[in-house]
Amino acid sequence: MSSCSTKTFVLNPHSDEIDKIVRKIEKETRGQWNVKFQNNTHEEIVDLLSIGFFTNLVQTSFTDRYMRQYPCSGNGCEAVSTQRCHGHNESRPELIRRALKKIWPDTSKPVTLRAIAIEFFCQHRTTKFTFKCYTCHKSEPQNDSVIAKKEATKARRESANAEKKRQQAEKKRQKDATKAIKEAEIAEKKRQRELKKKITLVRQASLAKSPKKSPKK
Ligand SMILES: [Zn+2]
Repeated sequence: MSSCSTKTFVLNPHSDEIDKIVRKIEKETRGQWNVKFQNNTHEEIVDLLSIGFFTNLVQTSFTDRYMRQYPCSGNGCEAVSTQRCHGHNESRPELIRRALKKIWPDTSKPVTLRAIAIEFFCQHRTTKFTFKCYTCHKSEPQNDSVIAKKEATKARRESANAEKKRQQAEKKRQKDATKAIKEAEIAEKKRQRELKKKITLVRQASLAKSPKKSPKK
């Protein structure tokens, strides 16, 4: 009897293998499987597990030997399978998210890595999880979550660029203003120098015209 409680009429063709994987994880004795999470958000756990640990877990659980028994499921392809493919909008993070929603609704209570992993694999039973060759895998449509992430990144980059441009423009404005002030100062100094010169000339001219007065007796 499998520990997967999911009842469905549409079963993934690899459900028997999934059951085997689940039973294996149930019997695992290594300490890591008893690691507990508590008071974390689901997204924190998704972030932590989806990249490294569960990627490796999927790879080592659906072994190369098992995968090679199934040729690429790409349309009319039948090449040797090398890729473990989650269905459209059924990515690894999404399946972890579904598993957490199901078995860990109250995050104030502890949950083990083992329980999450088991439910994660059980979630595969109702998906289009399959094996494909590299070419067919790469040509799969992107998941909505990936597209959304890319769009968010693009928007962030654009707003960062706009901010950079704004700062550059502001810097230039300040530089121009400083330059204008300096130029005005130089012009004013020059004007004053010339004024002084003129005053000196006028004084000299007036001194030359009027004879020197003899000092008072
Ligand atoms: Zn293929």
